[in-house]
Amino acid sequence: MTRSHGSTPGAGQNRPWLNSLQRGRVPGPRLPQQRVVDGAGQSTRSVHAGTYEDPITGAVGTPVFQSSTFTFTEDTYQAFDQGDIRDVPIYGRYGSPNQWAVQEKIASLENAESALVFSSGMAAITTTLLALTNRGGHIVSSRDVYGGTYNLLREDMHQLGREVTFADPTDMESIRSAVRDETQVLFFETLTNPLLKAAPLAELGELARERNILLVVDNTFLSPIFLRPLEYGANVVIHSATKYLNGHSDVTAGVASGPRKYVDRIWSQMLKFGGSLDATMCFLLERGLKTLALRMRRHHENAVTVSEFLAGHQRVRKVHHPSRADYPYPWLAEMCPDGWGGVIAFELAGGDEAALKLLDHLHLPVVATSLGGVESLISLPFNTSHSFLTERQRGEVGIEPGLVRLSIGIEDAQDLITDFDQALSAL
Ligand SMILES: *Cc1c(COP(=O)(O)O)cnc(C)c1O
Repeated sequence: MTRSHGSTPGAGQNRPWLNSLQRGRVPGPRLPQQRVVDGAGQSTRSVHAGTYEDPITGAVGTPVFQSSTFTFTEDTYQAFDQGDIRDVPIYGRYGSPNQWAVQEKIASLENAESALVFSSGMAAITTTLLALTNRGGHIVSSRDVYGGTYNLLREDMHQLGREVTFADPTDMESIRSAVRDETQVLFFETLTNPLLKAAPLAELGELARERNILLVVDNTFLSPIFLRPLEYGANVVIHSATKYLNGHSDVTAGVASGPRKYVDRIWSQMLKFGGSLDATMCFLLERGLKTLALRMRRHHENAVTVSEFLAGHQRVRKVHHPSRADYPYPWLAEMCPDGWGGVIAFELAGGDEAALKLLDHLHLPVVATSLGGVESLISLPFNTSHSFLTERQRGEVGIEPGLVRLSIGIEDAQDLITDFDQALSAL
């Protein structure tokens, strides 16, 4: 299996710092004790890549190095002297064995040279977008992005001298016409919440290359098991690791992956913004990731089965899921032949009132926000993620009354179906 580092745009007149970042780079950071897995499948990488093999104890998993600072050695001084301080343990915010272990695992899964973990998905997004743009720059994105990201783009970016244009994330014409000479970044989600709109990633990659723009994508909904955006021309791929990557609804974390050239630049921004990830959270994330491939397959199978059941139920008006025949974005199945994760949206007859009642009658899914956990989570966009929009604005992005957002867990599909059957019958 060869490593793909995404496409490298030419020296950008919009990004003068790129020219100063051409010196030689090695993948990582890595310690010599870390396992490097090349040429293996995604399950093998999930389990083994990046593990720190402790030479003293022979511990099978990465120990927790709960230390905020590390003893100076000749290597440290040499790193200071040569300016490659990202590669030696110095100080917790700069990097640590636990960060490097989990970063190596994610980089391996993404086929990336380097990855950088953060204290949340939003820390990853904020830091990356500010690292890769500068004053006077322009970003093209969409109104369908995650609420926190949308608020950052709408409320903060212009204060920081970056303009943002929102385009239809599924329509290349709309995206192309939003691009200007000053455009530095295209920022899209590979699959959106809650309606699962799929970005035409290969065409976005082509546009980015043609126009010398960086393509940054949020791949939270698909995970690297189903899609590795760097292989389609994305320059940086971001995740809210809080969701599928960790998978157990017990860690808040984020990650950005890509060629070292970009991740090193994002790292130096992270040093200033400070959103680094604590050692114990890295340990939990690394442990969660070991079952990523296994979990994603189960999420996918359950989502297909439950979608089928919901679509056949008389109280359900419409199911938004890539497995349905009327799913409008055929390029998703071409890019992701193995699956699409576990998020389903469906519209109930009877509008939001019926949707609220459904939540009352369900026993298994937990009524809570977030997604990607082993337990099914269910919520309504109208009174949570999209409550800041008017009913008309919700209609414009396709959120009709009665819409329910379901993140399918890894329970037995039949138990979920039995529960939905009784709850729908009680409406
Ligand atoms: C949850 C989420 C985020 C934000 O991540 P946090 O870890 O909550 O900061 C960003 N993008 C998407 C698609 C998400 O689902």
